[in-house]
Amino acid sequence: MAEIISGTALAAKIRAELKLETDELKKAGITPGLAVVLVGEDPASKVYVRNKTKACEEIGFYHEQYNLPATISEEEILDLVDTLNRSAKIHGILIQAPLPKGLDFKNIIDHIDPNKDVDAFHPYNVGKIMIGDFEFLPCTPAGVMELIHEAGVSVEGKNCVVVGRSNIVGKPQAMLLLKENGTVTVCHSKTPNLADFTRNADILVSAVGRAGLITGDMIKPGATVVDVGMNRNEEGKLVGDVDFSSVEPVAGYLTPVPGGVGPMTITMLMKNTLKAAKLSVKK
Ligand code: NDP
Repeated sequence: MAEIISGTALAAKIRAELKLETDELKKAGITPGLAVVLVGEDPASKVYVRNKTKACEEIGFYHEQYNLPATISEEEILDLVDTLNRSAKIHGILIQAPLPKGLDFKNIIDHIDPNKDVDAFHPYNVGKIMIGDFEFLPCTPAGVMELIHEAGVSVEGKNCVVVGRSNIVGKPQAMLLLKENGTVTVCHSKTPNLADFTRNADILVSAVGRAGLITGDMIKPGATVVDVGMNRNEEGKLVGDVDFSSVEPVAGYLTPVPGGVGPMTITMLMKNTLKAAKLSVKK
């Protein structure tokens, strides 16, 4: 039976550490500040934004939230980004994805000051991740690495398989595993016979968005399985990509959904915001 790696517990531990560091920074007169921009009425995005705001309050950050109508023009959002780039109170800027149709997420991200890009989506920060010399780690992949470390699993020399190649999860995940000397394979929708790859994985990260994609017969006995996927099943319950009941008896370590990668992603966002505040002092 796999040992379950709790993201909820690890996130609470890291947030307590971040709070202590924040208290210290506040004594020096700096309060880390995060601006969260929500455009439109996407219900899932509203929940994420609320959770991010709650995390800011828990740690003691200053935060600003902008709820903008879906009808807003891109120019108006860019004007807001410019204002936030100049604001001394704001160290991190987050544009909640997905944006309503007609708004170019990439163009808006390109306008964020890279020093305030706490999601690490700006091409400058993506490039830094590529060369292994980064200020900000991408939040979800960084959370995955923390979970792997928490389990006491070393990446070095391991066969690592990442399923999914998005710019926000799959690709940067592969880079972080490579940085820790894993041998990394990235699979995607055009990969034939996915199980041929996953069965060789000592460490498997699934970031697809398809419930039940990864089943027990696709897992190497004892493997570390991290489930990034977030899906609603037929009953409306939140589930990952991993078929928990068939994978749990085979894997060595397994992250649950909910309570795995999700709380870690927000925690890594908080870590990046604190780092951005510290870096602003140096600059
Ligand atoms: P995207 O839709 O951008 O990417 C999905 C990836 O999965 C693509 O690369 C796609 O391949 C690949 N894929 C699709 N079908 C298959 C298949 N049958 N076999 C193998 N690969 C497949 O999603 P994201 O990366 O943004 O997110 C992935 C999942 O992670 C979602 O469920 C999302 O909700 C969740 N998520 C969770 C977070 C958390 O904090 N827990 C944070 C971010 C995301 P191709 O490129 O060929 O299309």
